[in-house]
Amino acid sequence: MHKKKYNFKGGIDYSSLKKEQSNETVKNFLSFPKKFIIFIKHSLLQKNQLRVRINQKVLRGQPLSFGSETIVPVHSPASGYIKNISFFSFSENKSNEYIKIVIISDGEDKWIKLHPIKNYKKHTPEKLIRIIHKSGIIGLGGGKFPSSQKLKLSINKVHTLVINAVESEPFVTSDDCLFNNYLNEILVGCKIISWISKIKLVLIVVQENKTEIISKISSLIHNQLLFKLCLISNKYPGGSSKILIKALTDKEIPYKKHAIDIGFLVFNVATVYSIKRAVFNGEPLTERIVTFLGDKNFFHGNFWVKIGTPISYFLMHFKIQAYSDINIYLGGMLMGNKVFDLNNSTLQGQNCIFITSNKLINKKYTEYACIRCGFCSKACPINLLPQQLYWYIQSKEHDQTNKHHILDCIECKVCEQLCPSNIPLVKYFKYEKKIQHNINIENNRRNLSLVRFEKKQKRLFFNKKIFSKDDLFLKSNPILRINDFNSKKIEKTLNSFEIEENKKNKRKEIIQQAINRMKLKNK
Ligand code: SF4
Ligand code: SF4
Repeated sequence: MHKKKYNFKGGIDYSSLKKEQSNETVKNFLSFPKKFIIFIKHSLLQKNQLRVRINQKVLRGQPLSFGSETIVPVHSPASGYIKNISFFSFSENKSNEYIKIVIISDGEDKWIKLHPIKNYKKHTPEKLIRIIHKSGIIGLGGGKFPSSQKLKLSINKVHTLVINAVESEPFVTSDDCLFNNYLNEILVGCKIISWISKIKLVLIVVQENKTEIISKISSLIHNQLLFKLCLISNKYPGGSSKILIKALTDKEIPYKKHAIDIGFLVFNVATVYSIKRAVFNGEPLTERIVTFLGDKNFFHGNFWVKIGTPISYFLMHFKIQAYSDINIYLGGMLMGNKVFDLNNSTLQGQNCIFITSNKLINKKYTEYACIRCGFCSKACPINLLPQQLYWYIQSKEHDQTNKHHILDCIECKVCEQLCPSNIPLVKYFKYEKKIQHNINIENNRRNLSLVRFEKKQKRLFFNKKIFSKDDLFLKSNPILRINDFNSKKIEKTLNSFEIEENKKNKRKEIIQQAINRMKLKNK
């Protein structure tokens, strides 16, 4: 059995802490709530059609929205009726608006009519991609990129499929749990993807300390040439595709490019599972495994959770009453976002709900000056220079932060965790990324204005030339004066006009000479 070990630069080893909490490979089922809240990004709806209206009855798996091929539909997680549809914003930033759909469940959990495909090889890759799109599958590792688009881009471009079962966040074990309980289905998912993208090699990447899963996978893929098991060192963060590809191949994904551009298709293990369910069982994406992670005061475990389950329902389920004394994060303790509204709900890309008491999280650290110790640079898994970036941000040297690839930072917080001066580096980096984003928008706007200005200047210049040339020409070519902005075209037209004029004059001259000759003869 081929098992190769890989390592990556930097990172932090959390394994000693992880042992206490990570052995959560048991799946639990959370009874589902009466009320679901679904959020659909507003910008999506500009291209998408909202498919439901208030008071309409819906079934589980029924699309709530539908639209262009780059945007996947979102489905009802349960049968019931639509109670309300409204606009909602998680922050004051109105460009980040969502459509909020409230669904009241009838408790029956009735599915729409499903169309399972048992022999996927009888269907074309295009048809399977369409099914995956209609099933609303997106990158469940946090990427949220539509899987159908990724598959479409990968055809005839990739040679290797990388199954990413490396969980980035410490203590999050949802992928671990999925692998342990649904290994056969995940392998079928790998085969479906390989069939679509014509891939001959699948690398399954797991952390080296997952001994139970490693032996299960090893026995199942034994003698199957398609699969290869790769073990990666048990460090945080290992789940980013940039880090994985670098560790496996020693190749860097070029700036502004993706793994597909260098021949690798990377899918998170939960995405592979939901692709299998979409094709083989005909089920749209309506639920996922979520790690409920609590500190010592709270319960933790892995649960099948319907998308749209409100956070308040979790708290009620685990009998957590003291809302003011706790902090809730969606997405893990390092990279997660703090929840301020308990009506927030679990979305497709969220694999963890982290709950901790205020006392633990609110330790105040004083921020000291950077002592240039270099710990941050040594630990950065992306090979960035956090200390240097920090200095450039302080001195507002935005072109330098761009040159030092601030946009490549995956916000893993490794640098920040090791900084002896308690500098919240990622807070600075996030802020600088927003500035870079605005600079890009401004540059694009400027470039567009410049192009428009140059076109206008050319048009004015050639119009002037035409006006001074010949009024006759203008009278016979009014459309050219008004609409033709292409200078080359005008030049070409102008040259051909001059030639034509010369020819005409010559002909006129010849005819005039002939007439004169005739007149002379008649005398
Ligand atoms: S770890 Fe902190 S103190 Fe040390 S160089 Fe980096 S930013 Fe400066
Ligand atoms: S947060 Fe960014 S700069 Fe810091 S270690 Fe992670 S990738 Fe490197």
